[in-house]
Amino acid sequence: MNSSGVADVKPTAIEEKPPRAILDAVLLGLSIFLWALFGIYTREAGTLASLWPANAFLLAMLVRFPSLATRYAFPAALLGYFAADLLTGGTLLSTTILTLANLAGVALGYFLLSRIQEDDRHLRRPQSVLLLMLILAASSAAAGCVGAFANKILFERGMIGGFFWWFVTEFVNYVAIVPVILTIPHGFRLRGERRRLRIPSPSLTRLAPFLAFLLSAAASVAVGGPGALAFPVPALLWCAVTYGLFGTSVLTFLFSVWTLLGIANGVLHVAPDADRDTISLRLAVMLVALAPLMVASIFEARNRLIEQLRYRAAHDDMTGVLNRVAFFEQARQMLASANREAQPFVVLMLDLDRFKSINDTHGHEIGDRILTSFADCLRSCLRKKDIYGRIGGEEFAALLPDCGRAEAELVAGRIIDTFSRAQFDLETVSINATVSIGFAVRDAGQTLEALLSTADRALYLAKNAGRNRAEYAESRLQ
Ligand code: GH3
Ligand code: MG
Ligand code: MG
Repeated sequence: MNSSGVADVKPTAIEEKPPRAILDAVLLGLSIFLWALFGIYTREAGTLASLWPANAFLLAMLVRFPSLATRYAFPAALLGYFAADLLTGGTLLSTTILTLANLAGVALGYFLLSRIQEDDRHLRRPQSVLLLMLILAASSAAAGCVGAFANKILFERGMIGGFFWWFVTEFVNYVAIVPVILTIPHGFRLRGERRRLRIPSPSLTRLAPFLAFLLSAAASVAVGGPGALAFPVPALLWCAVTYGLFGTSVLTFLFSVWTLLGIANGVLHVAPDADRDTISLRLAVMLVALAPLMVASIFEARNRLIEQLRYRAAHDDMTGVLNRVAFFEQARQMLASANREAQPFVVLMLDLDRFKSINDTHGHEIGDRILTSFADCLRSCLRKKDIYGRIGGEEFAALLPDCGRAEAELVAGRIIDTFSRAQFDLETVSINATVSIGFAVRDAGQTLEALLSTADRALYLAKNAGRNRAEYAESRLQ
């Protein structure tokens, strides 16, 4: 486990069932083939491509979806690169060298990203973006080293110039594409039905940051000059604190692509010598895009921390059910809505029987185990919409909306049966712990306290009638 309580699963190569693994590899190889074709067709004659998404796509997909990283993945990608280059007139020598350079970067990137923490891989910590940039820079440098030879052998140009050209192009592509894929939310499955991406309904307040982004992009076209590069930054920062990590990655990706294309097509006039300053401009665009990404990732870390703290503040450490404060808070809210809608509504008070003597005989540790097992029993017997909590040492309470007396009797009986059938086996003895339950049905306008006290009265009846049973009490309207 890591600091945020998420199991640390490294994207190491997984042994997949062959048919599915082969199908995934074929699809991956086909994607690489298409991305490579895209790079080849968008490059200027006699040069290397400047839009080359294939490597960034391959690296990010293998890391984000570890099930793709089977032993078939690299051969499939290799085939994709080779097929695209050979079909578009590459010689065997040029294809081999260029593919080697592509795979050198991806291999180093994959090696390094597999070794960092899960949270960093998904950019969930403040320093994650910087760490990712370092890894992507190292991967680009690896590609640059092989690319330097490629430049010499294939284009008879200098090795140092070749290295930098290759390095910058790789880096720009990696920085634009990898964060988008790495931050694809976890509800998203590559295949299968469960694609639970929560997309909030659009409203003007939610759309405002995006509209500001579009406006500032228009302003950079209208005003121009080197400063125009930074015009969308405030809007992107606003997006970063509104749309979360994935949304921000997508928007910074759009910003990078739009700016680079705008400069290339002359729509965006940022420098008189934009052609000569291509490398510097590309790096500037990428570095500008880092700020919103980093803000989004810090926000993500902050939100997760707040969520964890909220969870801990509302739940009982030992049993995991709601604690007293949270139970009363949620119960009040539920009662308020039940009063508005006049729905039938039941409250249960549950108290473990002769628990003191269980503790005295078998020790507190066993007592704790029994309490945890009782909480599990509540989880299995109650519905999702019911709320229940531990309101005292061995006392629990539950609120059941949309439930009448007859149904409550069945539920209480089920809890009693399930719990009394749970044998707590110790090495030599077995303990039969039981529970008594009192329940009451809501009368219109009754407060939570009055309802709980009626259920408490019923619990007293159950204890007096011999325990391990449920009793009902009528509300007395005060
Ligand atoms: P009754 O059937 O009348 O409810 O008897 P009882 O012994 O359950 O009732 P009593 O209120 O006298 O005792 C409750 C016991 O619950 C006393 C206390 O030691 C135990 N208890 C309270 N909290 C915990 C806990 O967190 N862990 C353990 N192991 N025991 C607890
Ligand atoms: Mg008790
Ligand atoms: Mg008690």
